[in-house]
Amino acid sequence: MALIDNHGRSIDYARIAVTDQCNLRCTYCMPEQGLNWLKKDELLTQDEIHKLIQNLAFLGVKKIRFTGGEPFLRKDFLDIVKNTKSIPGIREISITTNGTYTEPHIQELVDLGIKSINLSVDTLNPERFLKMARRDWLPQVQSTFNSLLDSPIQVKLNAVIMAGQNEEDIEALSRLAITMPVDIRFIEEMPFNGSGINTSRVSAKDIEMRLLELYPALHKLPMQPTSTSQEYSHEDFSGKIGIIAAYSRTFCGTCNRIRITPSGHLKTCLYDKSNNSLKSFLSSDSSDFIIQEKIIQAIGARFANGFDAEKHRAPIHESMASIGG
Ligand code: SAM
Ligand code: SF4
Repeated sequence: MALIDNHGRSIDYARIAVTDQCNLRCTYCMPEQGLNWLKKDELLTQDEIHKLIQNLAFLGVKKIRFTGGEPFLRKDFLDIVKNTKSIPGIREISITTNGTYTEPHIQELVDLGIKSINLSVDTLNPERFLKMARRDWLPQVQSTFNSLLDSPIQVKLNAVIMAGQNEEDIEALSRLAITMPVDIRFIEEMPFNGSGINTSRVSAKDIEMRLLELYPALHKLPMQPTSTSQEYSHEDFSGKIGIIAAYSRTFCGTCNRIRITPSGHLKTCLYDKSNNSLKSFLSSDSSDFIIQEKIIQAIGARFANGFDAEKHRAPIHESMASIGG
């Protein structure tokens, strides 16, 4: 089967947030005191996540990315990954993590066939890391990075660039791609910081200009279908550089993804205030038919793009951790 939205876009990718909890407090993601964490019974259970993915796979979803919050904080996270492996139709499983609790699990992830991990690190400078993440975990993140490099798992680094905070890290982080086979992706800050306060943003255009100043021979690659990252290569680089225009939203026309929040809401767009709660259908004896109907209905009423979605909602107060980044 194929899941096609009301604008003719095919959906084959779901990002599933397994928890909203996190041990870091990245300033662009949540306030210092954290969030009003969901209670255990508000989270999707392992069985509910399994049932959900079975139904998504039946409808045509082929790729799952687990995220959060910090997914490795959830005790049964590796069981969730393991169970997902056995679901017919799921061809690829990947994970987005802050790298603080990831390292001890790398071999198990390799054994489970995980091919790719996105590791978030906004700066390699200890002082700036502490300022941005409000927690002193950089050594552990770097150690996870090194272990991932030694493993067969492909690692991509994600860095949110914030005005006046880590703009200088565009240089230090992009240099990693010269000698290492890693892709470094710079992300525009979005307003999902859990406070509703808007900050001044560094745009994708600003990031591109800075990169071209640093490396005039950087070569802009054709945008891959359904990709959110504009990629650049360089003759002398082992890895690639990418820019994700998450706020400028230049990629909505080919968006192939949906999101499931930790409480089981289906979001057909990051900027959409979803009312599509699936938890009650997943926890009850509802038939697969009903669950699939709910998913199909939501996908049939998708906004054309993130600007449209934002226009039809109240101002944003959510955190990326409670949506699933
Ligand atoms: N805790 C994990 C991590 O940080 O990788 C997974 C969840 S986090 C919400 C997923 C991604 O969202 C991270 O790469 C993070 O940098 C990004 N993110 C969080 N808040 C953001 C914001 N306001 N704007 C842009 N990206 C954001
Ligand atoms: Fe935690 Fe990831 Fe949000 Fe940072 S971006 S606070 S690591 S969930």
